[in-house]
Amino acid sequence: MEKITIVGAGLAGSLLSVYMAKKGFAVDVYERRPDMRKAAISAGKSINLALSVRGIHALKEVGLYDEIKKISIPMYGRMIHSIDGVTQFQQYGKDNSEYINSVSRGDLNKKLMDLADEFRSVKFHFNKRCMGMNLDKNELYFHDELTQANIAVKSKVTVATDGATSPIRMEMLKIPRFDFSQEYENYGYKELHIPPNDDGSFKMETNALHIWPRGSFMLIALPNMDGSFTCTLFIAYDRSLGGNASFEYLDTREKVSDFFKENFPDALEIMPSLLEDFFGNPTGTLITVKSYPWCVDGKLAMLGDSCHAIVPFFGQGMNAAFEDCIYLNECITNSPGKWNDIFNNYQQMRKANTDAIADLAQENFVEMRDLVADPRFLLEKKIESELYKRFPDTFVPKYTMVTFMRIPYSTALNRGKIQASILHALSDCKSSIDEIDWTAAETLVKKELAPLNY
Ligand SMILES: Cc1cc2nc3c(=O)[nH]c(=O)nc-3n(C[C@H](O)[C@H](O)[C@H](O)COP(=O)(O)OP(=O)(O)OC[C@H]3O[C@@H](n4cnc5c(N)ncnc54)[C@H](O)[C@@H]3O)c2cc1C
Repeated sequence: MEKITIVGAGLAGSLLSVYMAKKGFAVDVYERRPDMRKAAISAGKSINLALSVRGIHALKEVGLYDEIKKISIPMYGRMIHSIDGVTQFQQYGKDNSEYINSVSRGDLNKKLMDLADEFRSVKFHFNKRCMGMNLDKNELYFHDELTQANIAVKSKVTVATDGATSPIRMEMLKIPRFDFSQEYENYGYKELHIPPNDDGSFKMETNALHIWPRGSFMLIALPNMDGSFTCTLFIAYDRSLGGNASFEYLDTREKVSDFFKENFPDALEIMPSLLEDFFGNPTGTLITVKSYPWCVDGKLAMLGDSCHAIVPFFGQGMNAAFEDCIYLNECITNSPGKWNDIFNNYQQMRKANTDAIADLAQENFVEMRDLVADPRFLLEKKIESELYKRFPDTFVPKYTMVTFMRIPYSTALNRGKIQASILHALSDCKSSIDEIDWTAAETLVKKELAPLNY
């Protein structure tokens, strides 16, 4: 049985181990943390995640989606909370058949591991921190966090799924002509909590992703299965950028309390543990990583955040990592045993697309924190949805292309730019959708866009 080593048993590594076992490989997965199914450890960054079509497709391929569906909460749109407490619902898709799903990161990871454990050919090695590798010797080096022993492991074929701070990627830096960039946002995030009502029911609309857009900062909330919401506050680090809406400024309980009273009064009422959460939970960083190449000879490939970490504003990081698994699996099918071809084909299929979703995710931060409350943006959204109705094969909203379809992210990015300019031209000097000249709109759409081949 041919052997594959996977470094990192997070979301992508655990899913990949199932794909590989189904292909008939013996799979060794090395993970620096303890087994999260046994130890009471947090699954790391963000408690819940938005799962959409690309990720769902992968879960369907490995036969896990029905299980995950049971622990997912559909979110049909954004619920925008204005400062005076008025809420407005903005549907994500054309109707309720298009939605994203709130799912617990930890539960999803555990279910993927459980599925992998059903294959006798998969072996997880927990508490093994990867310290590096030697590609000439086909060796990986681990530190056992329990025994403090250092271990060398032979591996001919390795896939690194060791996340945004990937130690394997650090090794790649030694390779000639390896391109690498990492860009930290000047914003960080803090996870906060809205508990359920005493009877276990939700304190706000369940089937929505709640957003409190405040221009240069925002609060969001996603529902959990236990009736609670996990909120995430995104604000600047430095006072010079964010003023009072900055981690630097918000350094006392009084300041945090006043900040919420001023900016999120409706949320504050239902956040009894705000101050404990704010000062007890870590401040998360937001990073975009781009790298190339992702593979070396037929020996090593990187996958998921290790080669393309993105900011979370399109809810696509995990979905993109799961899509990597779909494509890598397909490349294995197409060139059995030829690892050099497999890894090269996989990176050629994915690189431009993960660069595209990185850009889309950065753009979407501005849309989420600011534009969703802007009248011109709202008018453009109305025009967009009308154009989608009139030309369903040609004018497909960017959000739909990214979230509800599996077309390449690069196509979504390129068409999204053209569509944005059409919407901008049509909404110019208009205050209502009734003022739109639909004949001119049709001419513009047909001139600028070919039907989407999907
Ligand atoms: C706040 C936030 C919200 C997000 N929301 C969404 C969302 O709504 N939808 C979405 O699709 N994506 C979302 N993402 C992105 C998503 O979390 C990542 O894209 C996804 O986790 C990538 O999976 P991965 O397996 O590549 O990396 P990870 O999930 O980070 O897994 C990496 C694994 O490698 C292990 N590891 C690290 N170093 C070593 C080492 N030295 N040795 C051995 N093991 C190691 C880690 O312990 C971990 O288990 C969000 C991210 C953040 C930060």
